[in-house]
Amino acid sequence: MNRIRLLVFNRALEVLDYRVPDGMQVDLGSIVVAPLGPRQITGIVWEPERLPGQEVAAEKLRPILEVLPVPPLSAPLRRLIEWTADYYCAAMSSVARMVISSGGALSGPTTMTEYRLSGGMPERMTPQREQAIEALQGEQATIRELAGIAGVSEGVLRGLVGQGVIEPVSVAIDRPFPPADPDFAVPELSADQREVADRLVQAVEAEEFAPFLLDGVTGSGKTETYFEPVAAAIRRGKQVLVLLPEIALTENFLNRFEQRFGTAPVQWHSSLKSTERRRAWRAISEGTAQVVVGARSALFLPYASLGLIIVDEAHEVSFKQDDGVRYNARDVSVMRARFEGFPVVLASATPALESLQMAESGIYEKLDLRSRFGGAQLPHIDTIDLTEEPPERQRWLAPRLVAALEDRLAKKEQSLLFLNRRGYAPLTLCRNCGFRFQCTNCSAWLVEHRLSQRLACHHCGHEETPPATCPECGEPDCLVACGPGVERIADEVRELFPEALIAVATSDTLNSPDKAAEFIAAAEHGAIDIIIGTQLVTKGFHFPELTLVGVVDADLGLEGGDLRAGERTYQQVSQAAGRAGRGAKPGEVLIQTRHVEAPVIAALAEGNRDAFYEAETEARRFVGAPPFGRWAAIIISSEDDAEARQAANRLGDIRPHVQDVAILGPAPAPLAMLRGRYRYRFLVNARRSANLQKVITEWIAAQDFPPGVRVGVDIDPYSFV
Ligand code: ADP
Ligand code: ZN
Repeated sequence: MNRIRLLVFNRALEVLDYRVPDGMQVDLGSIVVAPLGPRQITGIVWEPERLPGQEVAAEKLRPILEVLPVPPLSAPLRRLIEWTADYYCAAMSSVARMVISSGGALSGPTTMTEYRLSGGMPERMTPQREQAIEALQGEQATIRELAGIAGVSEGVLRGLVGQGVIEPVSVAIDRPFPPADPDFAVPELSADQREVADRLVQAVEAEEFAPFLLDGVTGSGKTETYFEPVAAAIRRGKQVLVLLPEIALTENFLNRFEQRFGTAPVQWHSSLKSTERRRAWRAISEGTAQVVVGARSALFLPYASLGLIIVDEAHEVSFKQDDGVRYNARDVSVMRARFEGFPVVLASATPALESLQMAESGIYEKLDLRSRFGGAQLPHIDTIDLTEEPPERQRWLAPRLVAALEDRLAKKEQSLLFLNRRGYAPLTLCRNCGFRFQCTNCSAWLVEHRLSQRLACHHCGHEETPPATCPECGEPDCLVACGPGVERIADEVRELFPEALIAVATSDTLNSPDKAAEFIAAAEHGAIDIIIGTQLVTKGFHFPELTLVGVVDADLGLEGGDLRAGERTYQQVSQAAGRAGRGAKPGEVLIQTRHVEAPVIAALAEGNRDAFYEAETEARRFVGAPPFGRWAAIIISSEDDAEARQAANRLGDIRPHVQDVAILGPAPAPLAMLRGRYRYRFLVNARRSANLQKVITEWIAAQDFPPGVRVGVDIDPYSFV
C-alpha cells in the first residue's frame, strides 16, 4: 500500500491523505504519526472508500513519519466507530478519540516515572509544603496528579523534588496483570441459575453474536450466574468486558470477582492514574487483560479478542453519555457484539421498556431468574399516603415510618432511607425578602450542602460559601432551607434516635474507592443502623441485616416531566426496595407518596411489574415515544442569548418537511442557561420508518453557524433539559 487515507483526531480536518515511505509496513487500522505543516498529528489508517474526502494529487502527498508500536484497530472496531458516528450524528474523530483514550499508551516507553515522599524533610518549611507532605502520605503518582491530590501547585512539588523530600520511582507499564482462574471457587448454582448459566456458556462457546436480556429479580444472584459465561470465556482465551453504571459499585464487584476468580479484574474508569490507564490500555489491546470492569468509556477500548460483554444494571441512565458523543453504552454494546460476533448480556431487575420490547419481538433472547437465591422472600411493600398521615411540620418522615425505624433499632436490624437528592435542601431563600439563591452560570437553584458548608449547583459544579447576609436585602442570618435532601433527613433521624449509628451515602460522601470500601465494610458488619442515601446505594449492595427500606419521596421523579419519568420512578423505587430482606429475615418497604393512586405507585405497592409495563407501553405507543417512535433533541447554545436565539430561529425557518418526522421548537430549553451558555431546543419525533439521522444531519449542514454557536444533537435522549 502506497497511498493511504487517515482519520485524524482533529474535527476540522478529519480526513487526510499521505504516502507510505519505502520499507515501512502499514496496515489498515494502524495508528501512525504524520506531518501537518510544521506539526505532527496522529491518525488511523482507514479504507479510503469508507472515508469520503478530497483526494490529494500523488505528487503532493507527504510521507508519514512512523507507525506507532500498538496493534492496528481491527476492521470490526473500525465499523463500530463508523456506526456510532452515523447513529449519534457525531464526528468519527470524536468517536475514535474514545478508542485511543490513553495518549501515553501509544508511545514506546515501557516505564513511567511516578513520585512519592522519601521520608526526608525540607530545609525550610512553608505552609504549602506542610500541606503537601501531609496530603501525600502513602500516595504515589505523577507530579501533576500529586499536585491535584495535595491541592498545591506543581511548582511546590518540584521544589520538594529538588530537595529530595519527594523522590522519583520508575513504574513498569507492561508488567502483566495476574491471571484470573476460572476454577478458583466455582459456586453451587440453584436449578434456575444453572439453566441460565448453561445457556450463556453455550453462547460464549459458539462465538457468535447473541444478545440476551437477563431479567432477574433483585437478590436472584445475577452476578453469580453471569460469572459462569465469564469463566467460559476465560477458558477459551477470550476477553470479557463487564460494564457497571457507577464507579462506586466497582468496589463491591471487585470483592465478589476476587472471591470467584482468585484475583481482581482490570479496572477502567475516569479516576485511574495515568500510569494505570496506560498499563490497562496496553494490556487490553494486546489481549493480556482478560476481564475488564469499567464505566461506559471502557466499551470503546481496542480489545484484542473480546468474547463477551455483560452490561450490569443495564437499565441505568448513566450508560447514556450526555456530552461529547452522546451514545448509550447499552445499545452500542449490542452493536459491538454484532460486529465482532460474540454474545452480550443485558442484566437488570427492571429492564428498560426498549429492552423488553426487543425481547418480546424475538431480537433478544430473554432469560429469567424469578426468585431470590437461598429462599429469601421478596419484601412486603406498603404505601404511606402523606396527605392522610403527614409528618410533623418541618419534618419529612411520617409517624408510621418513624415507628418502623424504631422497631428495627430495637431488633438491631438495619434500615435504609432512600431520597434521590444530595445535600441538605434543594432550595435556599431569604426569610426577609424571599430572595432565592440561583447559580450564576445556570438557570438552576443552588443546593445547600451543610456537611461541606457550601451552596452548590448540581449542573455545573459552581460552589459558593453561604453568605452571612442576604445579597438582596442585607438581612443577617436570614437563610431558610426549603425541602429536604439526604443531609436534612439525616438530621431528622439524629434528633429522633440520638443513639443510632447513621451513615449518609451519596456521591459526595462515597467519592473514592476507599470510602466506598469503608462504607460497605461498616454496613456489612452492623456498624451502621440507618443508611440515608441517594440512588447510589440502591444498586448492587447486599446487606443481609437490612430489613426496612423507607422511600422518603416517591413522587420526586414524577415531577421532572420527562418522557421516562414513570419508568425511572418504577426502577429506582424497585431497586431501593430490592435492598430489603436479602438475608434470612423478611424485608419491609414503606413508600411515602402524595399520589397513592398514580399507576406507577399502585403497581409498586402491588408488586405488579407487568401491570406497570403494560400501562407504560400503551402510553408510549400513544405518543410515539420509544420503542414505538424515536426522539432526538437538538440544542443550539451560545454565551450570547440573542445569538443563540437567532441561530435557532433561522434553523427553524429552514426546517425540513418530511413525512413521519415532526419537528417541535425552537423553544428555550428547560435549563435555559447551562454553564454560562444560553440554550434553545428543538425536539424531533419520528416514526421508526423515517431516517431520523439523515434528516437531522442534512438539515443542520444546510446552515452556517457563527463560531460562538454550538449545535448539539442528542439521538434517543435521556435528559430532556
Ligand atoms: P442480584 O444482582 O440478582 O440482585 P446478587 O448477585 O447480588 O443478586 O446475589 C444475591 C446474594 O446471593 C449475594 O450475596 C450472592 O453472593 C448470593 N448468591 C447468589 N447466588 C449464589 C450461589 N449460587 N451460591 C452462593 N451464593 C449465591
Ligand atoms: Zn450552575
